[in-house]
Amino acid sequence: MLKKYWEKISGYLSNDIGIDLGTANTLVYMRGQGIVINEPSVVAVNQKTGQVVAVGSQAREMLGRTPAHIVAVKPLVGGVISDFEVTEEMLAYLIRRAETNSRKILGPRVVVGVPSGVTNVETRAVRDATKNNGASQVFIVEEPMAAAIGIRLPVNDPIGNMIVDIGGGTSDIAVISLGGIVRSKSLKIAGDKFNQDIISFIRSEFKMLIGEKTSENLKIAIGSALPLPAPLEAAIRGRDLITGLPREIVITDTDVREAIAPSIDHLIEAVKEVLETTPPEIVSDVIGRGLYLVGGGGLIKGLAELLAENLKIPVHCADDPMTAVARGAGIILEDFERYKDVLIESEDELPLHS
Ligand code: ADP
Ligand code: MG
Repeated sequence: MLKKYWEKISGYLSNDIGIDLGTANTLVYMRGQGIVINEPSVVAVNQKTGQVVAVGSQAREMLGRTPAHIVAVKPLVGGVISDFEVTEEMLAYLIRRAETNSRKILGPRVVVGVPSGVTNVETRAVRDATKNNGASQVFIVEEPMAAAIGIRLPVNDPIGNMIVDIGGGTSDIAVISLGGIVRSKSLKIAGDKFNQDIISFIRSEFKMLIGEKTSENLKIAIGSALPLPAPLEAAIRGRDLITGLPREIVITDTDVREAIAPSIDHLIEAVKEVLETTPPEIVSDVIGRGLYLVGGGGLIKGLAELLAENLKIPVHCADDPMTAVARGAGIILEDFERYKDVLIESEDELPLHS
């Protein structure tokens, strides 16, 4: 009773925030305001002084255009927190920026979504970094759970819900029921891998070297998992590997599809494996209700149809899939009593991952 009252009061005194610490994009949700920050997970660091020069899109703009001693770091490569210090700096920047919007008496309660593949050590590092940056309380939520809440799936009910979150560094597959993750799998095949696949394909088929950004643009513009009703093509520039000179070529959707096909197959196999080990009653729910696709990688054209064809279950593309985790963190903050059981607060409650 007292605790409930305190929840209410502390809501007025602090500005609670939810953070989606994605491998490609970081989003911040502020209670009562919605998503206030949506930036690429990139930090520019001055190697001479160790100082952070810029965070987010500003840091990304600097990529490849800076003096040698300034480097742009992606602190969450492959869903793994590869650089603790930079991650802490990024969190510090985000919390400060979110807080300047409305200063309150107490430090914020912070819900942080972490990729479901991170280890306990990494989770603890995120918690400590968030605490060190003034949070009064830190809660960790696994991203597939946050995403499911974000798209309003009934996670607390005795019903099987299936989420496939295809991000930049990792794809998280999870089956959720009664407020918990029943089965899950995290694999390092996601948007970044598709970009690499396209780079390799163009190198071997066209003897041309293209950059990561070009590859990503190509994937977004004409990438598909199934043949398209009308073919698409795009002109791209790169360096001819034989002459060493710049060259322009036209790439078709068929090329991109062929390039990413092996990774897409891996992804489908991983979803199958999760389904195969899920208890039958829950599988039956999933067959009836379908699987929900979230994350930027889920936007690849024809992916939902291909998954449905292979898995023989309905596949739904969530609306606004790249903000699902942040919206979920927000819903948790707004309706804390209802969702507090899906959160991990104390040290000994950290999620276990094989
Ligand atoms: P994370 O949660 O890991 O930060 P996001 O959910 O923000 O990742 O998704 C980022 C990934 O989605 C990137 O690899 C990006 O290239 C990819 N992406 C974004 N939009 C599209 C699109 N329309 N088609 C295909 N891939 C996309
Ligand atoms: Mg994500």
